[in-house]
Amino acid sequence: MEKGQLVVVTDFDGTLMEQDVGATLMKELGVEDRPDVRGELERFLNKEIGSREWIHTSYGLLGDRQKEVNAIADRMNLRDGAEEFLAYCKNKSIPVTILSDGMKYYIDRIMAANHVTVDSVISNPIQYGEDGAYTLGTQNTNPACSWCGCCKSGVVRKLKEEGNRVIYIGDGSSDIYGSAYADWVFARSSLARYLTREEISFYPFATFHDILKVVREQEENFLTGSPERREPAGHSFCKF
Ligand SMILES: [Mg+2]
Ligand SMILES: [Zn+2]
Repeated sequence: MEKGQLVVVTDFDGTLMEQDVGATLMKELGVEDRPDVRGELERFLNKEIGSREWIHTSYGLLGDRQKEVNAIADRMNLRDGAEEFLAYCKNKSIPVTILSDGMKYYIDRIMAANHVTVDSVISNPIQYGEDGAYTLGTQNTNPACSWCGCCKSGVVRKLKEEGNRVIYIGDGSSDIYGSAYADWVFARSSLARYLTREEISFYPFATFHDILKVVREQEENFLTGSPERREPAGHSFCKF
C-alpha cells in the first residue's frame, strides 16, 4: 500500500456480507443459548464488557465444530453490489481492507468461495489449522484499549497517521470506534442510527450500488480529498 492515498476500509459482517456471519454462527450453533454464555452476551450488549471478552467466550466454544461452521459460512452471501464495488476499487487502484471483529477463518473461506479478493484482511486470528488444531486469538495490539477484539480505531488511526484518506463502510457497534478516525463514512443499521443520534454526517447505504453511485459521482473529489470530512474524534471505550 502506497502512503498518502485514498483507501477503503470495510467491515465484513452485515456490511460486505448481507448477513452477520458471526452472529449467525452463535445463534445456529446454540452458543448464545447456553446459560453460562447468555449472561456474558447480555453484558456485552449492555456495554459492560468489550468484544474482546465476548469473543474469547463465544468463539472459545467452536473449537470442535469446524464442519458446522463451514456449512453455515457456505450459505452466506455478499451484499448486493459488493463484487462490482471491489472490482471498481481494483480498477482505480484504491486499496481495500476488510476490517472485522469477527473470525479470520470464515472471512477467508467466504472470500475464496466467492472468488473475490481485497488488499488486506485484518481480523481476529481465529483459525482451524490443517490438522484441525484450533487457534483462538484477538487482533487488538493497542495496549490502551482493553475493550475491542479487533481494535478497529487503532487500524484506521494508523492509516491516517500514514497520510491516507479513508473511506469507511460499516454497520455495527465496533464500527463506531473504527469509523471515528475516517474521513468519510458510509453507514447502515446501528452505525447509521448512532451517527444520526450524534449528528455526525455520513452517507447512508443499503447496497454497494448505493456506495458506488456516490463514489463514482464524486470520484475526483474523493481522490483529491476535497469533500467535506469529519473531525477525527475517537471514542471513550476504545482508548489510546
Ligand atoms: Mg458488521
Ligand atoms: Zn479498541
